[in-house]
Amino acid sequence: MPTPSDAKLAVITGASRGIGAAISEVLAENGFRVALLARDAQALSRLEARLSAAGAQARSFVCDVADEARMGETLASIETSLGTPGVIVNNAGVGGPFHRADEVSREEWDALFGVNMNGVHHLCRWALPRMKAGGYGRIVNISSIQGLFGGVRSSTYAATKHALVGYTKSLAAEWGAHGITCNAVCPGYIDTEMLLNADAGSRTELLRKIPVGRFGTPEEVARLVAFLVGPHGGYVNGSALVMDGGLSSQV
Ligand code: NDP
Repeated sequence: MPTPSDAKLAVITGASRGIGAAISEVLAENGFRVALLARDAQALSRLEARLSAAGAQARSFVCDVADEARMGETLASIETSLGTPGVIVNNAGVGGPFHRADEVSREEWDALFGVNMNGVHHLCRWALPRMKAGGYGRIVNISSIQGLFGGVRSSTYAATKHALVGYTKSLAAEWGAHGITCNAVCPGYIDTEMLLNADAGSRTELLRKIPVGRFGTPEEVARLVAFLVGPHGGYVNGSALVMDGGLSSQV
């Protein structure tokens, strides 16, 4: 029998920087104990130290989410040391490859699906029976505006993020009766390292396309996630929430 989930324990993947680090900080600020997952051990330790100094309970776990065996060991270690999470934020993700569909190699395709989709499934498959045992679960998947629309030189990334939206809606339908909600957040351009690497034109060029005239911040995404996993988010289930400054509202 799985251990029941703890509503105030959150696992955040891709916590070492960018949006994931901001989500970890905001959830810690909101009283969650946070398990921080990523591959960069040093960045994780720095975040863990910062959160602990602020009085939060944070533990880092070095793990590649695409590595199913390693994920299994890491989740067992989280369960032993912290308990069973009632909240999961699947944020770890990689962008690219930024070329046309006919130029995308099988290796590039598999690598992107390995992180952006398989990594999510490894974690959810482990968590769902435990959340069911606790009668409580909040899952948030960080998709993208490219989970709802396409883009030139973006076929692989858009395919992974569309898959994630479909997966999210299916979990919502399948597990809602057990007190588990599952939602996707679909950000537009958020000012992180990923955006700097994306090089889809100059920053000025990108900014011109965004009605509000600026990029989003990691903290803004984090506050939406905090709402979804907080006390007032329980009736939002199966949604793909767009947060793009109006980018996708125009033709
Ligand atoms: P960053 O590149 O800044 O951060 C990505 C995070 O994912 C890092 O913490 C990285 O940690 C982690 N990560 C990458 N690969 C793995 C892996 N194999 N195993 C574990 N962790 C991994 O990106 P953002 O913060 O911008 O992006 C976060 C999420 O938001 C992604 O899913 C992205 O697709 C999505 N998104 C971002 C947008 C943007 O404009 N920035 C827009 C729409 C969606 P480490 O390297 O230490 O493993």
